[in-house]
Amino acid sequence: MKDFLIVGAGIAGVSFAELCKQHNKSFVVYDDNSQPSSRIAGGLYNPVVLKRFSEVWKAKEQLQLAFPFYENLEKKLQTTFDYKIPIYRKFASVEEQNDWFTAADKPSLSDFLSTKLIGDKYASVNASYGYGEVLYTGYLDVRKLVSSYASYLEASHLFTSERFNYEEVEITNDFILYKNDKYKNIIFAEGFGMHANPYFNDLPLDGTKGELLIIEAPNLKIDVTIKSSIFILPIGNDKYKVGATYDWTDKTNIPTTAGKNELTEKLKETITCDYKIIEHFAGVRPTVKDRRPLVGTHYKHKNIHVLNGLGTRGVMLAPFLANQLFNHLVLGENLEKEIDIIRIYRKRSLI
Ligand SMILES: Cc1cc2nc3c(=O)[nH]c(=O)nc-3n(C[C@H](O)[C@H](O)[C@H](O)COP(=O)(O)OP(=O)(O)OC[C@H]3O[C@@H](n4cnc5c(N)ncnc54)[C@H](O)[C@@H]3O)c2cc1C
Repeated sequence: MKDFLIVGAGIAGVSFAELCKQHNKSFVVYDDNSQPSSRIAGGLYNPVVLKRFSEVWKAKEQLQLAFPFYENLEKKLQTTFDYKIPIYRKFASVEEQNDWFTAADKPSLSDFLSTKLIGDKYASVNASYGYGEVLYTGYLDVRKLVSSYASYLEASHLFTSERFNYEEVEITNDFILYKNDKYKNIIFAEGFGMHANPYFNDLPLDGTKGELLIIEAPNLKIDVTIKSSIFILPIGNDKYKVGATYDWTDKTNIPTTAGKNELTEKLKETITCDYKIIEHFAGVRPTVKDRRPLVGTHYKHKNIHVLNGLGTRGVMLAPFLANQLFNHLVLGENLEKEIDIIRIYRKRSLI
């Protein structure tokens, strides 16, 4: 009997699988490629909410786990996917500059916001009020990470590239039977695909569609991520990721003309040089109504668990949440109460 059957090999499922590897727990992973979020994500990590200049929830704890976690994975897979690229927040006015310096004085943000005002240093970017630099930021090539990790698992026959069929599960008190194999636990990490999961589809996973472009702009010449109403992230060879849109109604993974137009309009306000659109992606972020992840155990089935709700910040959250769930299940530690799905079951008087 294996310890875990993991459904989903996005950044959440991969993070949990890696913890199993590190702690010698047996597992298999199923993924059917149905949700593209991790494969198309911007991949930025950044401890500050740059709209309001406020700290991301548990930013320090998340980064403390994420940095060594990804570094270790790079070594293991012998590839590079974590690029420590600075983020420059473009100021739109003197008021915004002032707000930045006020925020940088706060103890929760002083480690993350540089107090040096950066001038209008890029010829092809409209930035008359300059920039502020966010510290401890970067870009994780999530697509590269999840695809290299899937190949790594495949080589040891731990990865099955097919849909997990919920109808075929047999749950007993002592084990779970799936396709003639027994498991102690199932971890569902299906991203927005959780809506098809009969055990967890009543959880308040909202979903926010995002669209993103890859452009080629030989004259742009920026070596940092610029954040204005959009982000422009250099990925090498004069190519840049440009994103992202937020749509709360359309829940499909289909790129739209409206999404493309919104991004190109915003691009026009930010840069002055020519560019060519190379690719256009869309996906649904697994966002949650109360803006906290969905982690924990089904209220009726003690061996069925969820690892979801990574929202707009999967890169920073995934190692933190996977650790939380792993330590909860293996070491009996309590989950942070803000992420535990017990909060939802309690509200509904299910427990
Ligand atoms: C346009 C866009 C830009 C983004 N930019 C950023 C960013 O810059 N920084 C950041 O941190 N985050 C960003 N995000 C958010 C980030 O992508 C998500 O938080 C993260 O990818 C969610 O990971 P996940 O593993 O929970 O879900 P997913 O990546 O959706 O993975 C779930 C996996 O489960 C599989 N699956 C589902 N159902 C089944 C089934 N029944 N059987 C088998 N397999 C199944 C799917 O195929 C999928 O591979 C962005 C998202 C979008 C859409």
